[in-house]
Amino acid sequence: MNRAAATPATQDDWYNRSNDEVHKLLGVSLAGLSSPEAASRLVRNGPNEISSGERISVLQIFISQFRSLIIWVLICAAVISALVGETVNVIAIMAVIILNAALGFYQEYSAEKSVAALKLMTAPQAKVRRDGHALTVPASEVVVGDILMLAAGDLVAADARLCDAATLQMIEATLTGESETVAKQAGALTAGNLSIGDQTNMVFMGTSVAKGTGRAIIIATGMATELGQIAGLIEKAGSDKGTPLQKKLDAFGRILVWAALGIVAVLFGLGLLRGTALYELALTAISLAVAAVPESLPAVVTVALSVGVMQMARRRVLVRKLAAVETLGSTTVICTDKTGTLTVGEMTVRRLYVAGQSYDVTGEGYGPAGAILLNGNAVSGSDHASLLALAAIHLGCNNAHLREEAGIWKTIGDPTEGALLTSAAKARLERKSFEQQYPKHFEIPFDSDRKRSTVVRRMPDGHLRALVNGAPGPLLEKCTLIDTGTGVQPISQQDRTDVLAEISAMANRALRVLGSAYRDLDGSKTGQSAEELEHDLVFVGLAGMYDPPRPEARQAIAQCRMAGLRIVMITGDHPDTATAIARDIGIASDRPALTGSELQDIPDKDLQERAAKTSVYARVTAAHKLRIVHALKANGDVVAMTGDGVNDAPAIKGADIGIAMGQSGTEVTKQAADLIITDDNFATIVDAIKQGRGIYDNIRKTLQYLLAGSTAELLLMAVCVVIGVPTPLLPIHLLWINLVTDGLPALCLATDAIDSDVMERPPRLPGEPITDRGFLSTMLFTGCLTAAVAFAVFLYMLDTTDTETARTYAFTVMVFSEVLRAFGARSESRPVWRISVLTNRNLLIVVGVSFGIQVLSQHNAVLGDLLKSSPVPFTDCLVLLALSTIPSIVLELGKLWRQRR
Ligand code: ADP
Ligand code: MG
Repeated sequence: MNRAAATPATQDDWYNRSNDEVHKLLGVSLAGLSSPEAASRLVRNGPNEISSGERISVLQIFISQFRSLIIWVLICAAVISALVGETVNVIAIMAVIILNAALGFYQEYSAEKSVAALKLMTAPQAKVRRDGHALTVPASEVVVGDILMLAAGDLVAADARLCDAATLQMIEATLTGESETVAKQAGALTAGNLSIGDQTNMVFMGTSVAKGTGRAIIIATGMATELGQIAGLIEKAGSDKGTPLQKKLDAFGRILVWAALGIVAVLFGLGLLRGTALYELALTAISLAVAAVPESLPAVVTVALSVGVMQMARRRVLVRKLAAVETLGSTTVICTDKTGTLTVGEMTVRRLYVAGQSYDVTGEGYGPAGAILLNGNAVSGSDHASLLALAAIHLGCNNAHLREEAGIWKTIGDPTEGALLTSAAKARLERKSFEQQYPKHFEIPFDSDRKRSTVVRRMPDGHLRALVNGAPGPLLEKCTLIDTGTGVQPISQQDRTDVLAEISAMANRALRVLGSAYRDLDGSKTGQSAEELEHDLVFVGLAGMYDPPRPEARQAIAQCRMAGLRIVMITGDHPDTATAIARDIGIASDRPALTGSELQDIPDKDLQERAAKTSVYARVTAAHKLRIVHALKANGDVVAMTGDGVNDAPAIKGADIGIAMGQSGTEVTKQAADLIITDDNFATIVDAIKQGRGIYDNIRKTLQYLLAGSTAELLLMAVCVVIGVPTPLLPIHLLWINLVTDGLPALCLATDAIDSDVMERPPRLPGEPITDRGFLSTMLFTGCLTAAVAFAVFLYMLDTTDTETARTYAFTVMVFSEVLRAFGARSESRPVWRISVLTNRNLLIVVGVSFGIQVLSQHNAVLGDLLKSSPVPFTDCLVLLALSTIPSIVLELGKLWRQRR
C-alpha cells in the first residue's frame, strides 16, 4: 500500500497501469477510502502542501520594528541626551522606543495572524469520495488513494490518475506553460517515458478543469507531486510590502522625518550663530525631532486595515488581497451577474409552451405541489402526449436532484435543472422508471459559453437519442424539424416566428426561458462532440421559469445610486428577461440590453463609448466580460466585477476588484479574485464597498488628527526657538503627547465605527492622494490654531511666573486641546454634535484616562516628577480647559460653514 508516497520515484508508470491495478495498489475502491484510513494516511504522509519555506517568524517581526527611520531618530536623541547628561530624557526616550517596538510588534503580529486566518478561510477545497459519499475537504487534507471528483472550474488538489472522464479538458499552463487545453481520458497508456503533457490519463496538482467532469484517484500529494518537485523553481510570488496606501504613507512619513530634521538643522544653526550654549541647543534639537515624528503613524494604517478586514469577514466578505480594501472605496462601477446575485437563484417553472399551446404552471419553489393548467383546467402528461414529450427532455437532460429538508424542497445541483425536475413531476413523469426505461449513455454538461446541455439516452428499441436543453434562440437555429403534437414536420418560417414570439412573451414577463429539442441518432456513426450531436434537431417546446429578485437587492441598488455607483448587469440570459429584471430592481435601463452577438461586432473604441451608457448586457460569454471590463477601465472607471465560472477568471483578474462568489464560484475563480462574497448576494458587495469607504475614511481622519498634532508641536517649538524664548515643551512632554494623548485616541479613531453617511457621497477620485489639498490645509490650520493658543498661554505665564510653571501650562493646553479635538476628528464633515459621542466607547475611556492623568500630575508628586509638571490651581485648570476648547470650536464651526455652502 501507499507505494506512491513511500517511493515517489516509481510513480512514473502510473499512466501505464490499468484502472484495476491502480485501485489495488492504492488499496481503494470507487467508494473511496474510509474516514479513519484517510485520517491515518494524513498523519503518516503529512498534509498535502507545497512548503514555501518562507514564513515570517516572530523574531523577524520584532526586528522589523527597529527598521524604521523614526526609531533611529529617537535612538539618536537618546544618545545625545546621554552625552549631555540628561538621564531622565534617556530613560524616557528608551521607554518610548521599547513601548513603540512592543506596540508595533503586537499590532503587526495580530495583523499577521488575522491575515493567516483569512488565508485559511479562502484556502482551496477539494471534492473527494470517502465512505461512499462525496464531501468537500480542504485541499491540504487529501491523501494518496482519495477519489477526487472533478468538474469545470476545479483546481486539482494533487496528482491523480483518472478513473473516468466525460469530455474532460484541463488547463495545465501552470506545469507545462501550454495555454491550450488538454483533452483527458481514463484508459491506460501503453507508451513509456511520457512527458507530463502527454500523460492524458493523469491530472496534476495546480492545474484546473476547463470543461467536463471526471473522477481520479490520487497517487501523490504535497512535495511528491510534479508541482512539488518543481516548487523550488517556481517564481516566488514576491512578498508584498504592504498595500499602495501603506507604501505611500511610509514614503510620506519619511518625508516628514527628513523635513523635521532639516528644520532642526536650520534652528540649530540659528542657535549657534546666536551663541546659545551647545547643551541647550542639543536638548532643543531632540525636542524638535521628537515633536515632528508621528510615532504612531505606521501602526494606525496596519490596525485600521486588519481590523477592517476581520470586520468584513464577519459580514460575509473574505478579503484575499489587502490592497483591495483601499480600491473598494474608489469603485465607480459594479458589474454583477444576475442569477443568484441580484435574484434569489431559486427557479420555478411558470409557463410551458409545446405544440403551439401555452400552459400555466402553479406552485412555488421546488416542491411538487402545484398543477399544470391549460386554459385554467388542470391537465397531466398522461392525456397530453406533447406535454409528456417536453417533460421527458426536461427530466432526461438533467443532473440535479431534489431533496426535502424540514418540509422545504431544495435542489442539489443547478437550480435551472432543479426547476425542470419539479415541473416534470407536476406533469406526472416519474423519474425512477424513466431512468430505467431510458438509460443514460453519454452527456455533454452545461457550459455557459455554449448555453446548452446534451444527454444521449438509449431508447427501449435500442437506438440512441440526444436530448438537448438550452438557451432557446440559438437552439431554435439548430432545429430543422418540429414536433407539432401530431407528428414531426420540417420547421416552417411561421413556426419559427411563433416560437420566437412566445420566447419574447415569456422573457418580457421576466421569465428565464429554456428550449428543448432532440434528435434520433444514427447508431453506426454516433459522434461524441457537440458539433456532431447538436444539429438537425427536432424542436419540442419552451419552459419559462421565474427567479424572483432578491428583496434586499432593490434597496442595495438604491443605495448605490446615492453613493454615485453605477450598476451594470451582465448575464447569459435572454435580453428581454434581463431588461425586465433590471427594471424591476431599479437598474436604470432606458436603452435596450446589449447582447453578446452585437458586442462581437463593435470595435473596442466604440464599445468604450457604449459601455459608458449601457447598464444591461445579455447573452454574453466570458470573453465579452473581459472586453466590457477593459472598455470601462479605459473610460477611467474603477471596476468591480463578479463572476463564478472558470471562464470568468480572466475578467475577474482584469477588473480593479475581482469578486468571486463563495457558493456558486469555482475554485479557479476564487483563487483569481480579490474578494470572496460568501453568500453570493449583491447586497453584500455593496456592503463591502461601504466598508472599504469607511476604512479609508478612518485612516484619513486618523492621519489628519495625528499630523495636525505634530504640526502644532513643531510650530510651537520652532516659533519659540526663532524668537529666542525657552522651549515650551520638554522632550518628555512631546513623547507623552505623541504616544498617549495623540497615539491612543488615534488607535480608537482608526477602528471607529463606519460613518452612516459614507454611502451618501460620490466615490473618491481614483489616484487622488489621501493627503489632498483639503487635508493639508485643515491639518495646517488646526496646527496653527492649537500652537497659537498654547503659545499665548506660554508667553503670558513666562511673563508672570517662572519657566517651569509656564511649561506646565503650555503642556496642559496642548494635552487638553488634543483630547478634546479627538471627538470632532471622528468626522471630517459632520459637526461633533451630530455624531453620537457614545458610539466610540474606547475613545471615551482613553480620553478620560489621559485627562485624569493630566490633572493628577499637577498635584501628585510622583506623576508630577515623571511628566515634569508643577502644581496648577483648580481655577487655572478650568481656565486652561476653556482656552483649550478654542481650536475644537473653530474647527466645528468651520464644518458647519462648509456644510452651509
Ligand atoms: P446567467 O447565470 O447569467 O443567468 P447562464 O449562463 O447561467 O446565465 O445561462 C444562460 C442561458 O443558458 C439561460 O438563459 C438558459 O436558457 C440556459 N441554461 C442555463 N442553465 C442551463 C442548464 N443547466 N441546462 C441547459 N440550459 C441552461
Ligand atoms: Mg448561471
